[in-house]
Parts: sequence; C-alpha cells; structure tokens
Amino acid sequence: MKNKHYSLNPRALVTGGAGFLGSHLCERLIKEEFDVICLDNFFTGQKRNIAHLIGSPYFDLIRHDVTFPYYAEIDQIYNFACPASPPHYQYDPVQTTKTSVHGAINMLGLAKRTRARILQASTSEVYGDPSVHPQVESYWGNVNSIGIRSCYDEGKRCAETLFFDYYRQNRVEIKVVRIFNTYGPRMHPNDGRVVSNFIMQALRGDDITIYGDGRQTRSFCYVDDLIDAIFLMMHSHAAFTGPVNIGNPGEFSMLELAEKILSLTGGSSKIVFHPLPQDDPRQRRPDIALAESELNWTPRVTLDEGLRETIAYFRRLSQ
Ligand code: NAD
Ligand code: UDP
Ligand code: UDP
Repeated sequence: MKNKHYSLNPRALVTGGAGFLGSHLCERLIKEEFDVICLDNFFTGQKRNIAHLIGSPYFDLIRHDVTFPYYAEIDQIYNFACPASPPHYQYDPVQTTKTSVHGAINMLGLAKRTRARILQASTSEVYGDPSVHPQVESYWGNVNSIGIRSCYDEGKRCAETLFFDYYRQNRVEIKVVRIFNTYGPRMHPNDGRVVSNFIMQALRGDDITIYGDGRQTRSFCYVDDLIDAIFLMMHSHAAFTGPVNIGNPGEFSMLELAEKILSLTGGSSKIVFHPLPQDDPRQRRPDIALAESELNWTPRVTLDEGLRETIAYFRRLSQ
C-alpha cells in the first residue's frame, strides 16, 4: 500500500499500542513495512510489551490519552485504547466510558480530517448476557445499562454507533471488529482475566479461583490468529465495514479451562469457588461465518497449543 504523505512507508496509528493486543499489532505492522505510531497513556499497558520495538526507525512511542485530541498525518488508525479486563475497567468506570466515547470521537475526527481508514476494537460484550447462541452479528444483544460492566459494554456500543454515524454522515472508511476473549503472551499477569489468573495461580501453587459454579462458558482465541484477522479486516474492500465477529468458536466452561491449565502446567493447586460477579455472561461463542466468507479467515491455534505458549511466557516472567 502507498501512503498519501510522500514518505516510504504507509503510516499506521495504534491507540493502546503498549497493551496486550496493541503491542502484537505494532509488531505485525512494522513487519508489514508500516511506519507505526504507538499511542498509549500506560493505564494498563506496559513498556516491556514494546521495549523491543523502541529504537526501530519505523516505531514512535507517544504517551497520550485518547480522550484528548491528537493530531498527526496518517493513513490507518487501529483504535485499541481501552482497559479490557473487568477489574481494570471497573477501577475508574467514568474514565472507561470516556476512553471509549471521547476516544472514538477524537480518533474519528482524526480519520475524517486525514481521510485515514479506521478500525475499532469492539467486543463480544456488546452482546451482553446473550439469549442467542452462538452470537451472530445481527443479534442486538442483552446488555444492562446501569450495572458494573456497563461502563465497558455501553461505552463500546456507543463507540460502534459513532463509527457508523461518521461513516454515514462524513463518509469515513470504517472497520468494526467484535473481538471475543483473546489470550496469549503479554497479557498482564495481574489483570484479573481468567486465563492469566488461572495460569499464575497454577504456577504459584495458589488456589484456582472459579467464580460461580464454573459452568459458564467462553471461547478463547489465540493472539496470533486475532492479529491475522485484524490485518485482513483493515485491508478488506472498502464496502465491508463489519461489524464482524473475530474469535475461536471452541467453547469451554471455566471448570474445563481450570482442569486444562492444571494438567498443562503440571500444577497441583486446589480449585475453590468464589461468588459470581454481577452480570457475568453465562455463555459466549462466536458465529464466525461472516469472517470466514468475507476475510477468508479461520483461527488455526488450538486452545492446548495457545495455552502452552502462554504458560511458557508466564513462566519466563516469573523467573
Ligand atoms: P490491555 O489493557 O492490555 O490494553 C489496552 C491498552 O489501552 C493499554 O495499553 C492501556 O494503557 C491503553 N489505554 C487505556 N486507556 C487509554 C486512554 N484513555 N488513552 C490511551 N491509552 C489508553 O487490553 P487488550 O486485551 O490489549 O485490549 C485491547 C483492546 O481490545 C481494547 O479496546 C479491548 O476492549 C479490546 N478487546 C480485547 C479483548 C481481549 O480478550 N483481549 C476482547 C474484546 C475486545
Ligand atoms: N480531532 C482530533 N484530531 C484531528 C481532528 C479532530 O483529535 O486531527 C478531534 C477534535 O478535537 C474533535 C473531534 O476529533 O473534538 C471530532 O472531530 P470532528 O471534526 O468530527 O468534530 P468537530 O471538530 O466539528 O467537533
Ligand atoms: N473467572 C473465574 N475466575 C477468575 C477470573 C474470571 O472464574 O479468576 C470467570 C469470570 O467470572 C467469567 C470468565 O471467567 O465468567 C471469563 O472472565 P474474564 O474476566 O477473563 O472475561 P469476560 O468475563 O470479560 O469474558
């Protein structure tokens, strides 16, 4: 792809670029010969995620909060800024909503001015506690607007609304991706999500904490598969805006996940049960037919393979 600004490489802006997914995306874009601006306020992101990219002539790191305007000349925007784990996004819920809503407005304003294509990291949380299973893109969801998850769920839903209104009103080229639970190396070890929690607990010999009875389900996508899909989506034909589900349709209960992680780590932790948090979805699995047909994408990494890589990463961190 040629850029509009007469430098050698096309320019991509990754908001939330120092986070788990954003850092993998920055790395991929540099490999694809993009000039990358990584923008992050380091709320949940970590310098170690992108330390190996600092020094590359194709990488700029900027400390900035997306709730404030940002000006640059760019060709593509990947809007990933937003805390993603429930304890993190519930820590300062007002800031979480601001990040999704004001952040989307600023990045869409930037896309409108520069005519950049813009991709939104939306989420399966827009389906809430779904009554349609597996979830298809045409399902409108079942979301509580006043609960403890609402700052995240409704913030992301409002961001989707803004994307489609900028598309209709200002002809901004948008791409909306609904990401289902994704895991892998560079997840924050203390971010409170289930995969990182169970692995860290198993490696330390601490109790494995299951919330509720452990029969609720999730579908887990390995990070490399997700990044492939994000890249394909950004470069898909302009008329394909999404929203498109990206995730791995394998569905596991939290009890199954705990047992898998115990067997892969060789840990002997005890499983204990804690109360289920409010509004915790009972089931979740993506229907990925649209991604398969429009992007010619399907996830390749099995849960066992992906967990092995992730466990190896957390082992190295703990040494
Ligand atoms: P993460 O917490 O590791 O990354 C989020 C990044 O955004 C961090 O680096 C954080 O410092 C940064 N950030 C937060 N608020 C910001 C602000 N106001 N200004 C600038 N930077 C800010 O989480 P992640 O798992 O990498 O998630 C990245 C994106 O993908 C999020 O938008 C999340 O909602 C979305 N997503 C992730 C998953 C998943 O399973 N990992 C699932 C669905 C959606
Ligand atoms: N914006 C930005 N960078 C730009 C252009 C706009 O951060 O390069 C912000 C700007 O501050 C504004 C928001 O994006 O608040 C929305 O821009 P838009 O042009 O849609 O609206 P307006 O400027 O008319 O409020
Ligand atoms: N969960 C759990 N133990 C933990 C952390 C999470 O049983 O230590 C459960 C949580 O209640 C939810 C599922 O695992 O049902 C996935 O939680 P996560 O926070 O990873 O993602 P989300 O709920 O946002 O899908």
